[in-house]
Amino acid sequence: MNKIGVLGLQGSFAEHIAAIEKCGAQAVDIRHSWQLEDVDGLIIPGGESTAIAKLTIDNPDPIFDTIKKRINSGMPVYGTCMGSIFLAKEIEGSAQGRLAAMDIKVRRNAFGPQRNSFETSLAIAVLGPEPFPAIFIRAPIVVSAGEDVQVLARVEEGIVMARQKNLLVTAFHPEITDDLRVHEYFLSIVEENRILGCRQLATEPLTF
Ligand code: GLN
Repeated sequence: MNKIGVLGLQGSFAEHIAAIEKCGAQAVDIRHSWQLEDVDGLIIPGGESTAIAKLTIDNPDPIFDTIKKRINSGMPVYGTCMGSIFLAKEIEGSAQGRLAAMDIKVRRNAFGPQRNSFETSLAIAVLGPEPFPAIFIRAPIVVSAGEDVQVLARVEEGIVMARQKNLLVTAFHPEITDDLRVHEYFLSIVEENRILGCRQLATEPLTF
């Protein structure tokens, strides 16, 4: 059975743990670097990216370096909302701490403040013909993406789901719906990785 870590330092990690368990995989709440040793994939949940950025400064536990090393050696990582900001190489107008692993530029709070949160039906071909109920909460958008990045879903304002090899991001929150298809898709990347071997992604040096 695949073992999926869910970064439990910040944000909506409990909902992701429940979704992964509903998909029939094992989920573990990750708070320390040593816990990453035997996970097959990692989810970085939604939350507040400036809060997780603070944890990259003077952290006695090398948890973020360990995540970065595991990304470089092919571990699949799925970032939701804040997680997508933390994975991005570039954050518009900000140098806040991040993993800088995925070749995307994101704009934080692209739809406005909390009161502009919304739900919409999204066409996502990799999930099948049924539209996905996508919930956006102070969500970012991907404003540009490198050639290597596969765009999986868009709204008028920009890209809201994308994949680069072992990295997957959504600007929306599937963990607070009953629809498990995004988690199942991520688990299929994890499975593919296990069977075909790691698809390595060369990333740049740490930015913190
Ligand atoms: N607006 C938040 C940020 O910039 C992200 C919100 C979310 O993860 N739901 O970090």
